[in-house]
Amino acid sequence: MVEPETRERVERLRREINYHNHRYYVLDQPVISDAEYDELFRELRDLEAQFPELVTPDSPTQRVGAEPSPEFQEVEHRVPMLSLTNAFHPEDLRAWYRRAVGLLDGTEPALVCELKIDGLAVALVYEDGALARGSTRGDGFRGEDVTPNLRTIRSIPLRLLDGGNAPRRFEVRGEVYFLLDGFQQLNRQREEEGLPAFANPRNAAAGSLRQLDPRVTASRPLDIFIYGLGWAEGGTAPETHWDTLQWLKALGFKLNPNCQRCASLEDAEDYHRRWVEGRESLNYEVDGVVVKVDRLDYQRHLGDVGREPRWAIAYKFPARQAVTRLLEIRINVGRTGSLNPYAVLEPVQVGGVTVRQAALHNEEDIHRKDIREGDWVVVQRAGEVIPQVVGPVLAKRTGGEREFHMPGRCPVCGSEVVKPEGEAMHRCPNTACPAQVFERLKHFVSQSAMDIEGIGEKLCLALLEAGLVHDAADIYYLKKDDLLRLERLAEKSASNLLQALEKSRERPLTNVIFALGIMHVGSEMAALLARRFGSVDRLATATEEQLTAIPTVGPKIAQSIVAYFRQEGNRRVLEKLRRAGVRVEERAPAEPLRQPLVGKRFVVTGRLEQFTRSQVEEKIKELGGHVGSSVSRNTDYLVAGESPGSKLDQAKELGVRVLSEGEFLELLRE
Ligand code: NAD
Repeated sequence: MVEPETRERVERLRREINYHNHRYYVLDQPVISDAEYDELFRELRDLEAQFPELVTPDSPTQRVGAEPSPEFQEVEHRVPMLSLTNAFHPEDLRAWYRRAVGLLDGTEPALVCELKIDGLAVALVYEDGALARGSTRGDGFRGEDVTPNLRTIRSIPLRLLDGGNAPRRFEVRGEVYFLLDGFQQLNRQREEEGLPAFANPRNAAAGSLRQLDPRVTASRPLDIFIYGLGWAEGGTAPETHWDTLQWLKALGFKLNPNCQRCASLEDAEDYHRRWVEGRESLNYEVDGVVVKVDRLDYQRHLGDVGREPRWAIAYKFPARQAVTRLLEIRINVGRTGSLNPYAVLEPVQVGGVTVRQAALHNEEDIHRKDIREGDWVVVQRAGEVIPQVVGPVLAKRTGGEREFHMPGRCPVCGSEVVKPEGEAMHRCPNTACPAQVFERLKHFVSQSAMDIEGIGEKLCLALLEAGLVHDAADIYYLKKDDLLRLERLAEKSASNLLQALEKSRERPLTNVIFALGIMHVGSEMAALLARRFGSVDRLATATEEQLTAIPTVGPKIAQSIVAYFRQEGNRRVLEKLRRAGVRVEERAPAEPLRQPLVGKRFVVTGRLEQFTRSQVEEKIKELGGHVGSSVSRNTDYLVAGESPGSKLDQAKELGVRVLSEGEFLELLRE
């Protein structure tokens, strides 16, 4: 008889895990660490093992990942893409091996060890030697068609090296991952665009691959390691996993170079031990070792149970965490005035690196995790260069800890702090705040903006303190004598600097728009705006409506751009830049802004054939139209695919014009 409390606990765990699955797999924005998630999952699995009557087919322990998002075309996997059983301790691994030996009537099978790449699983189908389709794992049975995005990853062969020897049709599986050195840069950029930072490289990889616009995917540092064959028809496949890997390599696939064949379980344990430290030297995140039975006939014999194969196991690495004292929470004022709290820690070693500071995102987050000054806290590194505070160690609380509150005044200029509605960040509204001026200048001269060599953080500060510069444009009016007046700046450095400034006047318009430091406009957005408007002046006079008509420009970005150019101070900076000869116009003509659908309201429904619903919606927006989610009297057109449901009835009732996909395309051609 199961106690009601146990039943309740199981249900609660399922609800929580389902919530976290959604955050992780669908939104690519987890709110707890993997270690915390694994803990919840383990508890649920243990309870279900103890009380099998509580197992339901929809329990997260019975399912993989999450359903494919409707934004993509669905792809059915011919052979399901499963998850892996986790081992956290040597005993877990040994128990797994013993079970396999038992099922193989006492034969001790040879193994293959591979690094467990922390990215997302994809399946690539090849037909007659060419890439035909690529999809995500999704819920294991149905994934998302992301072929155009996968085609942007250069190490994925579009044609095989040796098409002759490959089966006519087959599927390989691999892990798409994010390069670590590009990760921090992406997060910085996202913060500038007002987008939430990715929690770890795995989520960045998933978020980058699951994009509606392949150009965005192409701009991200993604790569892939192929780790196995899904299925094959027409041709002979090798007999062991190891030989399969060699064969795939010969066909031109990129494999992880650190795979190893292990004759015994002890060798596999050694491999794991070696890589606990070895992983620090890699430019991608690995969270464990996958141990696989080598012979494919043994694999078939062992088969699967539920969501996991019995012939493989993920032997996880310990999380890179440590416990230390949080001494103080300090505030750093960002370029756009955001007040960014961070933790000052008693220095501690986490995975071989000394950590002194850790990111705390905002006040809400600090309160949600109940982090207080003076707390003992768990600090974690998971691929991010800036470590995170996971949470407090409540058992070590003494009562002397101090709750954190955002200051009411800016710690640098003393202005009253504001918190715009719907935003998580507090801001200093004073654009003349010395911290903001400094950050803006630093941003302006930085590599991805105007790239002015020789001006670093220290010189920015010195120029501001000496009163030689009040805003970014002033640097173009510096004279050699001004520079020589600054301490430590020699004749030669001063000349170099003037030369660097001269060179920077020629930077492309994209860099100039990015350098202005408009809130929510990162480098990707700047490139888009440069392409669309072709000059700063045209951008400066754009209305919110014109801006939001561009796909991927939301109201927040549009408002921010309009507000930026409305400010007198910013207009002055612009004028000074123009007078200084900085490029404010693209040489080549901008893409003409053709928006024949301005003022037209669309709703798209049902399953379409040639395009996905999101692609059609993007197109409408690009051409100036508006896309709504429900049909009303104001709707001009309903684009209806197969099984359109109640929207079609409503449209008919309200006399809204209904277009099939073909008719819609016809309208576009007109
Ligand atoms: P998993 O990622 O732990 O293991 C299975 C996957 O490993 C495969 O699908 C494949 O993509 C990958 N893999 C990498 N290298 C491989 C190799 N060499 N050979 C074979 N496979 C390889 O399992 P999962 O089901 O994808 O995800 C569960 C894990 O995700 C959890 O343990 C947790 O860490 C994390 N998670 C976290 C949250 C959260 O909120 N933080 C939520 C959901 C899941």
